[in-house]
Amino acid sequence: MSNEPKDSLDRRLIPPVICYPTKTLPKPNLKLYSKARKSAKKTDEIIVPPRDAIHFRVKAGQFFRITSIEGPQVGDLNLWNSKNLREAFYTGKTRALHGSHLTKGNQLWSCFPYLRPMATIVEDTLEWYGIDSFGASVHDVIGTRCDPYTQKLLSDQNYHYCCHSNLCRALSTATGKSIDQIEMMVHDVLNVFMCTGFTRETGQYFMKATPVRPGDYLEFFAEIELLGALSTCPGGDCSVTHSNNSAVCFPLMIEIYTPDETALVNGSNNRWTSPEINSYNQTHGQ
Ligand SMILES: [Zn+2]
Repeated sequence: MSNEPKDSLDRRLIPPVICYPTKTLPKPNLKLYSKARKSAKKTDEIIVPPRDAIHFRVKAGQFFRITSIEGPQVGDLNLWNSKNLREAFYTGKTRALHGSHLTKGNQLWSCFPYLRPMATIVEDTLEWYGIDSFGASVHDVIGTRCDPYTQKLLSDQNYHYCCHSNLCRALSTATGKSIDQIEMMVHDVLNVFMCTGFTRETGQYFMKATPVRPGDYLEFFAEIELLGALSTCPGGDCSVTHSNNSAVCFPLMIEIYTPDETALVNGSNNRWTSPEINSYNQTHGQ
């Protein structure tokens, strides 16, 4: 144990400051999205079977909804720019900007050098949950994804239906490429419906039974052309375990909604357009 200095209490009492104040962050036009959503018609539906993943495509300006349908189930979501798969969802910066758990109004940001919103959360039926007495909340961007490598490390077992492997198979199907070619493109996820936090005592990542119930959903507005993949986590409701076949698992439903052509026109008669990629000049001081 290191020696505690005499002024340790003073040092601990220094108040925190927010790393990335979001006052200057461009805000999504939720009113416009809400107006467009009213005109939108359902144009596709995909069911993700338990312990599997399915890919889906969403055009910029469409909405997609992930719904719990048969029982409490957690989903692991990956997103890519469907026209440039190098532009992928960046959980770390999304977390730094919006916090450890996402809800309505938060955006899912893409990786460097793009760093722009890929999708905006427009509805969250679990927004009421907030942060519970354990410090837990839902829809985290902290938990990476369950994967066969960590499972092998911790229990010396080969398990092939972790979210990482499910997402690999889904991306392989979507692109027609081998797992070997695309595995590195599978990335840290938005843990849809998962209820998580860090223990106060040890700072360890914990999970608890999701509060989601059939009929609950999380809905997004696609800011750019998207390829998505959603895995139904083998942890099911994530109340006990994951990375094996012991938990009860349920399917999840993805629905795509398409608004009227004229619905994304704002009061000044300008049609909504996808956000531009980040304008930093990328010289990095060289
Ligand atoms: Zn998982």
